[in-house]
Amino acid sequence: MVDIDTCKGCSLCVVACPTDVIELADQVNGKGYHYAYMEHPDACTGCMNCGLVCPDSCITVYRVKKVKTVEPLEEVQL
Ligand code: SF4
Ligand code: SF4
Repeated sequence: MVDIDTCKGCSLCVVACPTDVIELADQVNGKGYHYAYMEHPDACTGCMNCGLVCPDSCITVYRVKKVKTVEPLEEVQL
């Protein structure tokens, strides 16, 4: 998740993302910068590269915990 108000559009996060999730917006924020946003959020692996390289700590990475569901075994008549 990108804090678009503090982003200065440096593109470091865009380059750092291995799955091309992040792009710079055509619109600008209150400071006049083309801010970063998640164009392809489904491709995010939660690797945190973007958050680590951002010089202004604009990015917070949230990981979604996947819960496995197990189907009950079928009852077998002997
Ligand atoms: S957490 Fe990793 S995969 Fe997700 S947007 Fe950031 S750099 Fe890309
Ligand atoms: S690295 Fe940070 S400041 Fe630079 S474009 Fe990405 S979110 Fe914005």
